Amino acid sequence: MSNIMQQLVDMSRYLGDPSKGYAMLGEGNTSARIDDDSFYVKASGTTLSTIDESGFVAVSISKVTAILNDPSAGDEDVSRVFKEALLDPEETRRPSVEAMLHAILLRVPEYNFIGHTHPVYTNAILCSKRAEEAASGRIFPDQVVSMKHKSVWIPYVDPGLVLAREVKTRFEQYVEEEGVLPSAILMQNHGLITMGGSPKAVTSCTDMAEKSSQIIVGTYALGGPRFMEPHDVDRIFTRPDEHYRLNSIADRKS
Ligand SMILES: [Zn+2]
Repeated sequence: MSNIMQQLVDMSRYLGDPSKGYAMLGEGNTSARIDDDSFYVKASGTTLSTIDESGFVAVSISKVTAILNDPSAGDEDVSRVFKEALLDPEETRRPSVEAMLHAILLRVPEYNFIGHTHPVYTNAILCSKRAEEAASGRIFPDQVVSMKHKSVWIPYVDPGLVLAREVKTRFEQYVEEEGVLPSAILMQNHGLITMGGSPKAVTSCTDMAEKSSQIIVGTYALGGPRFMEPHDVDRIFTRPDEHYRLNSIADRKS
């Protein structure tokens, strides 16, 4: 087994551990970059907690993301595109339908691993009436360190292609406005995506998102969260001098 695959299997089993409450049954999916234009992603119908090498398929990033820029494409085209995007034409399994979300993010060269989960406390927030408010701030310094100063917010839309297009738009908007790459994406009535250069970055961010969510849920019993002031967040989160640009992505076939 390759080193990348070993890391992906370990990360997936960690995120799928039933005692953590991040994913159960077939929930959640994970991916890892193979090279500039390809990645491993969980195959449809597999379970993170017990996954091994056979639970992943290798897919082309540009072939999966091309469908997002085709306005005439609909969900009925997704299965055909997924088949065409498989690196091994003999492959009979299919990527998880959420593979599109992974492909969008793996266009960014700084991301090598992605974890998507449906954690209990994070979803207690994301499925609540006050989801956007509760997810909007930062409540303690370690949260800022793991999750950066702000997460990407995705309002509820239809799963599948519509969701993938929404994630792409809002991700690019975040990078444009904030000038940095986010570590976490929160999807209303759905769950969490964390991204990083290493499996550790992904698991740490997921752990911290879930811990923060548990605390935020608790604060609503005591009047609601007292978010850190923006200048206090900025003291912890020092932005790099270089304003991150998505040119490197725009130049690609996406
Ligand atoms: Zn999901």
